[in-house]
Amino acid sequence: MPASRSVDMLVVGAGFAGLYMVHRARGLGLDVEGVEAGDGVGGTWYWNRYPGARCDVESLEYSYSFDEDLQQEWEWTERYATQPEILRYIEHVADRFDLRRSFRFGTRVTTATWSESAPRWTVETDAGDAYEARFLVMATGCLSMPIDPQIPGLETFAGEILHTSRWPHAEPDLVGKRVGVVGTGSSAVQSIPLIAERAAALTVFQRTPTYAVPAHNHSLDPEEQAAVKARYPELRAEARQMAIATGSRVPRIDASTFEVDEQTRHQRFEQAWQWGGLPFLGAFNDLIIDPAANETAAEFVRAKIREQVSDPEVAARLTPRQVIGCKRLCVDSGYYATFDQPHVRLVDVGATPIDSVTPAGVRVGSDDGEDIELDVLVLATGFDAMTGALDRIDIRGRDGATLRERWAAGPQTYLGLGVHGFPNLFTVTGPGSPSVLANMVVAIEHHVDWITDTVAHLDGTGRTTIEAEREAQEEWVAYVNDVASYTLFPTCGSWYLGANVPGKPRVFMPLIGFPGYVQQVSDVTADAYRGFTLT
Ligand SMILES: Cc1cc2nc3c(=O)[nH]c(=O)nc-3n(C[C@H](O)[C@H](O)[C@H](O)COP(=O)(O)OP(=O)(O)OC[C@H]3O[C@@H](n4cnc5c(N)ncnc54)[C@H](O)[C@@H]3O)c2cc1C
Repeated sequence: MPASRSVDMLVVGAGFAGLYMVHRARGLGLDVEGVEAGDGVGGTWYWNRYPGARCDVESLEYSYSFDEDLQQEWEWTERYATQPEILRYIEHVADRFDLRRSFRFGTRVTTATWSESAPRWTVETDAGDAYEARFLVMATGCLSMPIDPQIPGLETFAGEILHTSRWPHAEPDLVGKRVGVVGTGSSAVQSIPLIAERAAALTVFQRTPTYAVPAHNHSLDPEEQAAVKARYPELRAEARQMAIATGSRVPRIDASTFEVDEQTRHQRFEQAWQWGGLPFLGAFNDLIIDPAANETAAEFVRAKIREQVSDPEVAARLTPRQVIGCKRLCVDSGYYATFDQPHVRLVDVGATPIDSVTPAGVRVGSDDGEDIELDVLVLATGFDAMTGALDRIDIRGRDGATLRERWAAGPQTYLGLGVHGFPNLFTVTGPGSPSVLANMVVAIEHHVDWITDTVAHLDGTGRTTIEAEREAQEEWVAYVNDVASYTLFPTCGSWYLGANVPGKPRVFMPLIGFPGYVQQVSDVTADAYRGFTLT
């Protein structure tokens, strides 16, 4: 066992969450250290360097609010910043608050064991480091553990295999190459138009068609940016009152779909389409609750797909049939139109499954199948969302049980912040909190602020531990499921439900509705941390 370093708090991850946590912990005067698997800060924005990677929450909102000078001085260049710009921003934050010196980079946490007698967490890494920490903060990310698809023969491919979320730092040369993309989720939708610009031939292997709403991305007008900054605190506060913690500048009406006549409804969808992005699903207040209402929005988007793709057969294959919004809505810049280009081909692997990867490419169909020759295979196959990064660490709680075992039937948390049996362990944007159904920077700031206040409270009142109570946790898990069951979210096999990972239990993981959640956390805290045991 290596000599261990003793700290007040250990933070795992150096994305938006881990960096802010270290900053706040320092502010409390804690001795805090961080460990990050990547070689630099940024988390999502360190790893996901594929062409077209950008945020789908507007940058003026997808950014920290905790420091007025920071939010005033940083200038965004686009409505939706690209990955390099977001990474530059996070690096700027790390430098501005001198955060890098607290992190050990290129190092993965492998085990974390609670010792009741200490009481402390003992944490080990793959570099052989060990830490003793009073508090352990998992800022490990909801979308940080990529899925490697199980396709027979993948390892035999003679060309280059690229994963969107592990894209090489030196941009791979796709010019003139025959490229295949597996997947049609967000990363695929963002990257396909740009890959098509470079490739000689592009084949997209689609299992499920995707709904995408245009980003209408554009350079940010300095006057628009100045106007937002002049009212920043007010706009941020308004955004925190919105279901997904973003959209304070979106023109909105609070009406249900069938409250208005058909023409008005169509106009409203058209307005939302022209505005662009995720707010489309807020065009009416019941789109994600009422199946008939949802179908009107879905049909509107289907018609838009048909307008963008001239070959009716290709358009039909690109057209989703499921509930819109039930899988994460994609925000696109030219996705559907890409399929109008002669060198771009769509293979519906629902109808013609991928049989195997061969040294020369991908074989689809069975006996009389087809070999599609490729130089590069891009895997845009998504993430083991919300639990994936935590599952990969051997986390042992009070009675020696692992978190993985405890979560075998689905994740169990109280408020998405604490887990029964795992004292002094905090999950930032953990399952059971709004997390991926909110502007995540806002959700992260909320959690980190709460963790900071809670640690200050414990230290200030002479307590050493905090642990979620079993009953409170059970009620919370049931509540999160109840809320989901009133919506259309559980109606399709999404990653919110774990359906994209073979063998993962199907449990709806995030909590719907940011403002209600914030109120509940605040009520719990004000009521002497109801549902937690403090000792
Ligand atoms: C392509 C893409 C686009 C996105 N766009 C948006 C958007 O527009 N709006 C939005 O709200 N959200 C978006 N998200 C979600 C995004 O993940 C969050 O917004 C946010 O960046 C999460 O920050 P985080 O610090 O919680 O986690 P991450 O940024 O995922 O950082 C977690 C870090 O923990 C590290 N880590 C994990 N396990 C270990 C371990 N065992 N040991 C050491 N280090 C470990 C990882 O290497 C990673 O760097 C997007 C996600 C992706 C993938």
